Amino acid sequence: MAALLLDASDVRALLTPEDCVAVLEEAFATFARGTVVQPLRVVAWRPDEHGAMASMPAFIGEPPILGAKVIAVFPANRSRGIPSHQGVVVLHDPEDGRLLAILDAGAVTSLRTAAASALATKILANADATVLALLGSGEQAREHLRALCTVRPICEVRVWSRTPGHALEFAKRALDMHGLTVRAAKSAEEAVRGAEIICTLTAATAPILRGEWLAEGAHVNAVGASTPAFRELDAEAVARSRLFADSRASLAAESMDYLGALKEGAIGEDHLLGDLGDLVTGRVRGRTDHREITLFKSLGLALEDLAAARMVLQRAREQGRGTPLALGGE
Ligand code: NDP
Repeated sequence: MAALLLDASDVRALLTPEDCVAVLEEAFATFARGTVVQPLRVVAWRPDEHGAMASMPAFIGEPPILGAKVIAVFPANRSRGIPSHQGVVVLHDPEDGRLLAILDAGAVTSLRTAAASALATKILANADATVLALLGSGEQAREHLRALCTVRPICEVRVWSRTPGHALEFAKRALDMHGLTVRAAKSAEEAVRGAEIICTLTAATAPILRGEWLAEGAHVNAVGASTPAFRELDAEAVARSRLFADSRASLAAESMDYLGALKEGAIGEDHLLGDLGDLVTGRVRGRTDHREITLFKSLGLALEDLAAARMVLQRAREQGRGTPLALGGE
């Protein structure tokens, strides 16, 4: 069987947000069982920190798959009208290393990141949470809006963005494409006050979410700051919350939301209660009370990319989609 090239339109046609949540639920259960090998991400920054290249290999044991995401991240690309995340996910046969597929990493990344937040929200947010605040208006904000609507009956959405026109454009697009009314807020505080689910989805390098704004019972998905160069949450937001992460190792190595709060003395290392694998398998209790604030810190894992990509490849083969490549294969 020839290796397949699967572009962004293939990825989006073959994997819905709902399906991706289910795929990740299984992948995190596998992670909890200890059959995933996943070193920390390796990142090479340009000396001026204008952009970086990251490499994320992994092996998933059940069912077995081997692969990696290689991705360039250029946060200022939005002003040029091109995506900030560009690269590929490669899947290889776990028995002999043959190349199986090359997929568009931008599409896989936005789908799996929003699905991880949706999975955390499904487990941690109050069941009656309907008011959503999005901080940021880029690719992740678009995808989070779609994914979160699949796990809670969202009926009020606020969006804030550093560039006010971008929040207005986001609101217009949500109405045109999904028939959803989204209110563009003038400040992050205005968006967050009274919200029941809050997603931080920016490339901010200093906190944009303050703990004092969070209502009792809120759930936060903190997504944007996935390397130590970025930070979105102040120490109080972390300290007030029951904290969970996608991976304990990634949190300790890569999260300035967490490390900043630790350094400022607002929390101790025991503040982290568990990872998404612990929550999915019920090993650790998520929310214990309607008034608690819960926080899911997403760093982004290769296992999410590989699990999503494997499902896309399986469906591409079933449906005869994708472009055969004269690379690897048989
Ligand atoms: P986009 O480039 O599409 O959007 C970036 C958003 O960040 C825009 O809303 C922009 O606001 C905002 N922003 C940029 N700089 C700042 C700043 N200094 N202060 C406040 N807001 C800022 O990126 P994506 O949506 O694809 O990604 C968003 C973030 O999520 C990135 O930091 C990315 O690295 C991270 N990410 C995390 C993943 C994970 O697994 N945890 C996976 C993928 C991405 P405006 O346009 O209004 O100026």
